[in-house]
Amino acid sequence: MSRVRVALPLLALITLWGCSSGPEFVARHEPWRVEEESACLASGVVRENPFLRGRSALGGPSVCGAAKPFEMSAASLGRVSLKPAALLRCPMIPQIERWVETVVEPAARRYLGTPLAEIKVAASYACRPINHQSGGKLSEHGHANALDVSGFVLADGRTVTVKAGWNGDPRESAFLMAVHKGACEGFTTVLGPNADRFHHDHFHLDLARHGRDGLTRICK
Ligand SMILES: [Zn+2]
Repeated sequence: MSRVRVALPLLALITLWGCSSGPEFVARHEPWRVEEESACLASGVVRENPFLRGRSALGGPSVCGAAKPFEMSAASLGRVSLKPAALLRCPMIPQIERWVETVVEPAARRYLGTPLAEIKVAASYACRPINHQSGGKLSEHGHANALDVSGFVLADGRTVTVKAGWNGDPRESAFLMAVHKGACEGFTTVLGPNADRFHHDHFHLDLARHGRDGLTRICK
């Protein structure tokens, strides 16, 4: 069983000591997360459809979770599948839609000459530390505020993986670079193979707030 303890007098920092099934992490209560999710839900920008189903709240352990997550099984009105379906909080949905429609689909046609059919999801919601490093900060995945993408399946059946394509076939590489660059226009954190060894085989996309003003973006 997990044991939560208050690690600082200010009650701002919570250290979760993992049980035998998971690594421990350090997490902070951040009010902006609740406010941002509530505002997104209230705005009506995200509406359920056959490819986007509302799910019950994810809560804990520690500060992990989301008030009303969505299970997203496709983007672009069902044209592009997400496999397996991703569990995400509200603000992630419009960003993924924008990225798929305005960046990934055009890039597939431009660089690979074929429509995009599927995005291979490596991870979405997971209450764990960043890069699975025990004792580290809680990952945005713990807030259902992140998506890991390991590859893309095209309408002709071809699969382009981040692992093989980033430094591989020139067309696949150009496609992946364009997809990575375009993600930086919407997501506040974009990590790919150039970031570190943990991302040699996938793109990590999230909507974390970085820096004092929360406006710094990470794109590497
Ligand atoms: Zn990730």
